[in-house]
Amino acid sequence: MPLFARAIPELELALLRRGVDELSAEQERCGRCARTPLVGERVYSYDGRPVLCELCRALAPDPPLASHLVHGPEFGHTMRITDHRVAHRARRQRTTTDGT
Ligand SMILES: [Zn+2]
Repeated sequence: MPLFARAIPELELALLRRGVDELSAEQERCGRCARTPLVGERVYSYDGRPVLCELCRALAPDPPLASHLVHGPEFGHTMRITDHRVAHRARRQRTTTDGT
């Protein structure tokens, strides 16, 4: 087997490992069970402690200070579809009543 043909799968594997490491470094983990919360799951913040997942929250003695939803990696990078029909309709009515 030529050296070049063997080097490509090793490069792919190295890039894949780096990508997985980077993804897992960005994800939140529960401070108690170290589980990565699911997308859409609510995590809870406590004063000076790491966040807890929904399951471990039941075991915490005090109420959480705040909570937030876990978003997927596409959050903030996707297109937002907005409905401009109402604004367009109002603009069209204004122009017809003004006669312009
Ligand atoms: Zn947990």
